[in-house]
Amino acid sequence: MSMENQHREDPHCENEQAETAQIEAQLAAARRAAMAPHASAQGAGEDAHLKIGVYICRCGGNISDVVNVEQVAETVQLLPNVTTAKVHTFVCSDPGQQTISEDILQENLDRVVVASCSPFLHEQTFRGAVARGGLNPYLYEHVNIREQASWAHRHDPSGATAKAIRMIAAAVGKLRHAAPLEQIKLPNHRRALVIGGGIAGMKAAADLAARGIPVLLVEKTEKLGGRLNDRGRVYPSERDASELVEELARTVQANPRIEIRLSSQVKAVSGFIGNFKVEVAPEGGAAEQRTVGAILLATGFRPYQPREGEFLYRGGSSASAGPAVLTLPEFIQLLRATPENARHLLVNGRAVRNVAFLHCVGSRQLDGVHEPQPDGRLNTYCSRTCCTTILQQALAVRRRFPKTGVYNFYQDIRTYGRGEENYYTEASKAGVVFFRYNGEEPPAVALSAPESARDGAISITVKDTLTWNEELTLPVDLLVLGTGMIPGAIADLIEQMKLATGEDGFLQEVHPKLRPVEVAVNGVLLAGAAQGPMNIQETLAAAGAAAVKVAAMFAKENVELNPFVAEVDPELCCGEAHCVTQCAYEGALRMVAKEVDGKQVERAEVNAGLCTGCGACVAVCPHRAMQLNGWRLDQFDAMVDGIAAGVPNQACGEELVRIG
Ligand SMILES: Cc1cc2nc3c(=O)[nH]c(=O)nc-3n(C[C@H](O)[C@H](O)[C@H](O)COP(=O)(O)OP(=O)(O)OC[C@H]3O[C@@H](n4cnc5c(N)ncnc54)[C@H](O)[C@@H]3O)c2cc1C
Repeated sequence: MSMENQHREDPHCENEQAETAQIEAQLAAARRAAMAPHASAQGAGEDAHLKIGVYICRCGGNISDVVNVEQVAETVQLLPNVTTAKVHTFVCSDPGQQTISEDILQENLDRVVVASCSPFLHEQTFRGAVARGGLNPYLYEHVNIREQASWAHRHDPSGATAKAIRMIAAAVGKLRHAAPLEQIKLPNHRRALVIGGGIAGMKAAADLAARGIPVLLVEKTEKLGGRLNDRGRVYPSERDASELVEELARTVQANPRIEIRLSSQVKAVSGFIGNFKVEVAPEGGAAEQRTVGAILLATGFRPYQPREGEFLYRGGSSASAGPAVLTLPEFIQLLRATPENARHLLVNGRAVRNVAFLHCVGSRQLDGVHEPQPDGRLNTYCSRTCCTTILQQALAVRRRFPKTGVYNFYQDIRTYGRGEENYYTEASKAGVVFFRYNGEEPPAVALSAPESARDGAISITVKDTLTWNEELTLPVDLLVLGTGMIPGAIADLIEQMKLATGEDGFLQEVHPKLRPVEVAVNGVLLAGAAQGPMNIQETLAAAGAAAVKVAAMFAKENVELNPFVAEVDPELCCGEAHCVTQCAYEGALRMVAKEVDGKQVERAEVNAGLCTGCGACVAVCPHRAMQLNGWRLDQFDAMVDGIAAGVPNQACGEELVRIG
């Protein structure tokens, strides 16, 4: 069979040929469209002599396996003002960036478009390359043709190619209206406020002070150390928690750069990165006003407190009367208070013969199985530290009181940290007995019998999945509820600083991997368990990371922010204040009195430090007096024109291809 016939009879080849023909036709149409008088060609604010370079990335095949990047380059080269359009395997690589810088210098480019992956990854990279070429870094536009074209339309290569062309056409249109911008520089008050004096707050304060940064450390209780003050030996080191707390406390107390305010709280916060005004008040006494450049939130967590009657729990009264049901922290206190030479573990004056630990109380809650919290939320997350703590305590009971039976009721054992699995192994070897329940059927806890209730005897019934769902009932005289962590009571701070919380109620970072200790409010950072359940090791690592971030911020004389903030045109502003009413960021916009043509009028004024560039003010101004730098309304118009005039469909003449 000749090659020609083979091709003709192969349906795969036929599809390919049709696809190629379609792309060719689209390309031809795009050329016609690009060469025809462009909808936004050289309008007001544009310069016919501008030179725009477009760099299209293959992203090692991530883009080019779907998008025909060569055809994209060939097409966008025809757009007004585009003098260079190049394809590179990795534009983000050093040679890729160098090409951009060199082209700016050699070809006198005035603007640059990079069509590649997400701007989240590489916008800063390319701004750097543009700046190295001597161009204002904001005369650059990033187009995401990976997530938005090749990945989104991987089964439609010609559609993805057409979409990439339109997106670049939009960016080129936008750039033709772009003006150079400068970073906003704000004064940087070189002092950090650390809220919370647990191990996270102390570690962050110590690290900052060691880098020469003054710290104001505010702790609401009368003592430093946080929740570790209630712990004895901590896993995995088995060091006494008090040693760790005292070591850190000594460090912060001895450092003259750290001012400590105990029994104090932050009552008000205003201002912005580099320039926060805070009011710190002791429990009784006058508040002090301070200025700080950064704020670290190290407010930690609260232990889950079971509801009255949850698994027979009766609050503090459990320890003295009725069924002996304790939370994990209460049990830790009981064991700590029990003399080393005691022959029995005593509860309510009685020797404990059998103790049960019930895992996941207040954690990993399921809809329809557990009662929601007072705020209507279920604690669906894992508290991460309870499994190992329970195993550590269970092992301690078996070692200290070998005649006491120890039973664990668990869903999954999560001993994820280094050395923590040993507690599981050792507890098993020491005779701790494990029952595994299905999360949807937690063990039922009841009083054994009315008369034995006086003795506090408790029966636990479980369908044990380790023995193929055999239903077992076990009498014990002490039940320990493996209570986990819930978010701290910091609604006032959340409100003052407009902080975001996650679904779990803990403070939310910007990105769990890329910006793990930053929040959306510039200059505010997270340290430790305020962000979510963490063990000591993780807490100290997070606190250290937050301190490094603050130190990096203070390394510069000024705080430098992107210039994408709102700007008022005083000629167009009529003082109607729609923008101020709409603005969600307190202090970002206000009306100020001005004299215009001899008359006293009110005009809007933007505080660039507080403006987040959300654009809400732009949308509500009927006079187009508000503009967002870098995203001006004429730039939006040009983008729409660029998209609309992009690639006519060969099948329907000049009618536009529908994408997606
Ligand atoms: C039962 C239990 C046992 C544990 N055992 C271990 C263990 O053995 N090993 C281990 O690695 N981890 C263990 N952990 C985890 C450990 O407790 C945490 O990692 C650690 O406490 C987190 O420290 P932190 O400073 O972030 O928070 P916290 O210890 O909660 O400290 C926060 C501090 O901030 C203060 N604060 C709160 N709000 C304000 C406010 N508005 N203004 C001023 N101050 C405020 C609090 O008073 C407190 O002093 C255990 C956890 C639990 C629940």
